[in-house]
Amino acid sequence: MKNAAALYLAKDNPKEDYVIHVMTRMSKLKKTKKKSVSKLKKELDIIFSQYIRLKYSRNDVSSCITCGTIKLWRELHCGHFVSRQHLATRYEEKNCRPQCVGCNVFGKGQAAVFAEKLTQEYGEGIVSELYKKARAILKVDSSWYEEKIKEYKKVQQELEEKEKKSKASKLSNEEYEERLRAIVQYKKIQKQQEEDELQEQIAKERKRRNITKKVS
Ligand SMILES: [Zn+2]
Repeated sequence: MKNAAALYLAKDNPKEDYVIHVMTRMSKLKKTKKKSVSKLKKELDIIFSQYIRLKYSRNDVSSCITCGTIKLWRELHCGHFVSRQHLATRYEEKNCRPQCVGCNVFGKGQAAVFAEKLTQEYGEGIVSELYKKARAILKVDSSWYEEKIKEYKKVQQELEEKEKKSKASKLSNEEYEERLRAIVQYKKIQKQQEEDELQEQIAKERKRRNITKKVS
């Protein structure tokens, strides 16, 4: 209604255009105040993923459940044994482990090896247990997500504090080597990414300059 009034005003006075602008912005702000379920789901995905990767890391380093590659936890994904499509197991800790991009994306999760590793850890029956759970229809609302986000934020903080304390304790030579290797690899990737970005920028700028040359 307020917007309609502003529109009416603006018809007679073009200077009032900004009123519409401000009012539209205000109504947009009001709408975004309460987070949507999809936004909360994304938020929980991020927090849960960080938690899973931290849970299985030591001194910032973790390994891929299916191929064993050692990497900094930030470089790994949170791999799901039963696909993330199933909400009932999307945030099931038993269903999730750190996994490298190669196995998670290009290897489509390496389900057979994943199943083997989970069985080693939880015993026979874990695979059917997870499949059964995944089939359940879970109906959740925004407060369910808010609760979960709160819960995982808390446990993640606890893990980070624990990690900080353990860093103060001495690493074994093997752990130290692993950590160094992972850091070197991470730095290499970062450097390559920076280089690629720079090259891309240069290419863009060249293109832009050529275009302006043609115009003038
Ligand atoms: Zn892997």
